[in-house]
Amino acid sequence: MLKNKKLFISDMDGTFYLGSKLLTGSLDFATKVREIGGKLVFLTNNSSRTPEEYIRKLLNMGIDRSLFEVYTSGEATIRFIKEHCSGASVYLIATPSVENLFIESGIRLVNERPDAVVLTYDTTLDYAKIRNAALFLRAGAKYIASHPDFNCPTELGPIPDVGSLIKLFEASTGRVPDHIIGKPDPSILEMLLKDYGFYPDECVIIGDRLYTDIECGLRANVDAILVLSGETTPEMVPENHEFLVIDNVGVLAGMITEEFAV
Ligand SMILES: [Mg+2]
Repeated sequence: MLKNKKLFISDMDGTFYLGSKLLTGSLDFATKVREIGGKLVFLTNNSSRTPEEYIRKLLNMGIDRSLFEVYTSGEATIRFIKEHCSGASVYLIATPSVENLFIESGIRLVNERPDAVVLTYDTTLDYAKIRNAALFLRAGAKYIASHPDFNCPTELGPIPDVGSLIKLFEASTGRVPDHIIGKPDPSILEMLLKDYGFYPDECVIIGDRLYTDIECGLRANVDAILVLSGETTPEMVPENHEFLVIDNVGVLAGMITEEFAV
């Protein structure tokens, strides 16, 4: 399973770092990937920040810019809207920086009678946005969410993410999203492979969540590695699993020398 891997697609929260702290062996892992001539792309469902903000965060943690690329569910959501809902007016729930990303991409944002309501992880969310989105969903707007995670891991503990908001809107309006873009939907991984020019068997996806990272790999026919440094405990791992389970990406760094060949 581990032979000839060239593209290492890694989750960030709970896999590479937790909050503002790098997890054990993360730097070794990133360095090893470069040593064997591989590519490391961080794929995150967190849509509260732009790729630029993640790049800055990783640089501040001491990770050299030449070691990685970043791909977010927010970017994938923009791409989905441009491909599948071209010209649609959008009521967007997002942080100001991610809102700018949507505007720069040419998506038309409106505050009245939108064609679509788009939900991303908005850490600036207030009641007016919740009220407006609920009213637009009741009126029949198309409904797109950037990803399904119920919680975002932080140093203080898990806090409500887009999946929890989806439940709120379902309770209030009965609506569930027409499309949920991020992991585990295989299309986000397929878009990434296409953009970077790799075949599924040249890639491995690494993450700490069974229902997003690992499920995404299985659905997209990409080998998956579960790390136990984040949300998943050993007891949660199903008995007959079709993926590798390791403590942290530092263990993978050790395996790359012995097992991987490019
Ligand atoms: Mg994670």
